[in-house]
Amino acid sequence: MTKASSHDEAGRLAALRRLDVLDTAPEEQFEKIVGLVRAVLGVPIATVTLVDAHRQWFKARHGMPVSETPRSTSFCTHTVAARAPLMIADATLDSRVSDSPLVVGKPFIRAYLGVPLMTPDGHAVGALCAIDTTPRTFSSAQIEVLAGFARLVVDELELRQVAVTDQLTGCLSRRGFLAAVDSEIERCRRYDRSASLAILDVDHFKRVNDTFGHAAGDAVLRQLVLRCTTTLRPVDLVGRLGGEEFAILLPETGQDAATLTIERLRACIAGVSFEIGTAAALSVTASFGLTRFVSGDRPDGWLERADGALYAAKRGGRNRVNIANYASTPAAA
Ligand code: GH3
Ligand code: MG
Ligand code: MG
Repeated sequence: MTKASSHDEAGRLAALRRLDVLDTAPEEQFEKIVGLVRAVLGVPIATVTLVDAHRQWFKARHGMPVSETPRSTSFCTHTVAARAPLMIADATLDSRVSDSPLVVGKPFIRAYLGVPLMTPDGHAVGALCAIDTTPRTFSSAQIEVLAGFARLVVDELELRQVAVTDQLTGCLSRRGFLAAVDSEIERCRRYDRSASLAILDVDHFKRVNDTFGHAAGDAVLRQLVLRCTTTLRPVDLVGRLGGEEFAILLPETGQDAATLTIERLRACIAGVSFEIGTAAALSVTASFGLTRFVSGDRPDGWLERADGALYAAKRGGRNRVNIANYASTPAAA
């Protein structure tokens, strides 16, 4: 292992965990920044790299063929350790990285400029990188430009974490939705009201991306949220839990009414094709796990029960609404 681990590694990893960004889908703001880095610095490869305990993972990557690599052979682990910009003019001549698979194999990195991504509390969680496949140096003005973009990346990482709205679809973010669940539970408990919760997961969504591209997948997610909001009542809430998984909160709705509503939504998704900019429109289905509020429910338990029902819906063949089984819930009686 490199000396990157020596500077408060536990605190650094905790800061990275707090950002809650590892293994998430590409997001427009980071795509734009790496696009600008490529154009402004005239490099074929640019990445937003996060350095995890044993790997580096790319939140955004243009020209980089893989989504992650081992940390031990990464360039960015050295930038993180240095906590300062790192320039390598010719990687084949630098013993720290000359045997890296990214140097001896694709994309055959030669020149590297990395600026650490410093969180407000002083942790280097990764680096913004400009990479070339021929040896070169970068001027101090270029290093300054990259440092400016790195500050933007950190701002965006912080913003996405506190956002209550999902950037892609406009529905509530995970954080925004969980806050709404908290207050709904409080309302149900205090006034002895009913509410239901559904979790929706798009069926075989990976195929949509693989067949028609990520932009088509994004279009499907946007239209899906639109179908939810037009099918549901204005008081109902839709949130994106992550990826292609969404949650729906139905206040003042017991199980029977919730089942009818969610079944109507399922049919609306399955019954009308999605526009993805190609001649042939696309059929998409979703599976749902549904559960009513049960006295004593806490947010985690309520969501877990809906999630369990969702996975049973997947196992049962998809494109269906499955209602949680209360047998294992003590307060259900
Ligand atoms: P299943 O029916 O079992 O749910 O299969 P699936 O293919 O939907 O499930 P899986 O979890 O394997 O794939 C989810 C895919 O969703 C993989 C991931 O790349 C994609 N995805 C997650 N977030 C986004 C996004 O914001 N936009 C796009 N286009 N794709 C996304
Ligand atoms: Mg899915
Ligand atoms: Mg999923």
